[in-house]
Amino acid sequence: MAIVLKTEGELALMDQANRLVHRILDGVAERIAPGVTTAELDQWAESEIRAAGGVPAFLNYRGFPATLCTAHNDVIVHGIPNTTELTDGDIIGLDCGVLYKGYYGDAARTFPVGHISAEAEQLLRVTREALDLGVEQMRPGGRLSDIGATIQSHVERHGYSVVREFVGHGVGTSLHEEPQVPNFGRAGRGMRLSPGLVLAVEPMVNAGSRRVKVDSDGWTARTHDGSLSAHFEFSVAVTPSGPQVLGYDHPVNSHLSERKAS
Ligand code: MG
Ligand code: MG
Repeated sequence: MAIVLKTEGELALMDQANRLVHRILDGVAERIAPGVTTAELDQWAESEIRAAGGVPAFLNYRGFPATLCTAHNDVIVHGIPNTTELTDGDIIGLDCGVLYKGYYGDAARTFPVGHISAEAEQLLRVTREALDLGVEQMRPGGRLSDIGATIQSHVERHGYSVVREFVGHGVGTSLHEEPQVPNFGRAGRGMRLSPGLVLAVEPMVNAGSRRVKVDSDGWTARTHDGSLSAHFEFSVAVTPSGPQVLGYDHPVNSHLSERKAS
């Protein structure tokens, strides 16, 4: 399948789709507390997406049964929301996708539940930093593998490991488009990055070994050693003046307003 570059008009629509995703993530963030269940968060997310005129993108995707993918503690990605109550000290990853006006938005964050350990706090911080550093590589003329190489080196510098089995991806009128975006590898390889390319960049970082096991439900991916795992994701466009995190007021977007002002 060919790589599809998006026009400025399409990027504006994708910004709207991702703005809805981030509004949902902000809303679930406010609802996360000890005693709350991921099934409750999922119900809230589905009704908000539909009320906004969107469609949950993950629901029924290859048979996935929910709106959010939830990743509780040692779950890496693709966990199914359930009625287990969140407990003080847990971490909970929430991945949300929507289809809105013909375009997909896709983003994820991992949240603390109540007060978490310094170790868990650092895992969340380093994973989010790795995402931001990867996003900064999305400039015209750069190479695809610069993203993963930057993420991997930041993660491993802190003694954590990067999951290999799941990767980021192109996104647009399909949820998963070419190219794949690994969170590891050597810099300076792969396609040149050009304006209009939109990638969902999504490091999955394990506190221990990078090995993965999948539950008998066929979805839930966990760390093999039971260590914690964190996941953050932005959908990001390459623009002529640098990266644009779609739907989210990220500091890396500041060049866009400078471009407009001048
Ligand atoms: Mg996602
Ligand atoms: Mg994704």
